Amino acid sequence: MINIEINQNLCDHCNLCIASCPSGGIIVSNGKVVADASADCRDCRTCESICGRNAINWYYEIVLNKPVPGD
Ligand code: SF4
Ligand code: SF4
Repeated sequence: MINIEINQNLCDHCNLCIASCPSGGIIVSNGKVVADASADCRDCRTCESICGRNAINWYYEIVLNKPVPGD
């Protein structure tokens, strides 16, 4: 799972985040720099810290009432 959001209004397409990500978690799609939902994000937050435009927000996801198999 990938836990980042990229603000398209702030991104200037410098591609530093793409180059810095160790798991290929950020890609260009339809001309936009976006998170690849299928990537195995390591939660290193490198992308967030390297972005000079503060366009990347990393967040925790809290799952409530997660179904238990067999319930
Ligand atoms: S580092 Fe920031 S400004 Fe550069 S491409 Fe990534 S999100 Fe956009
Ligand atoms: S937190 Fe790390 S692994 Fe995840 S998308 Fe950012 S740079 Fe890649």
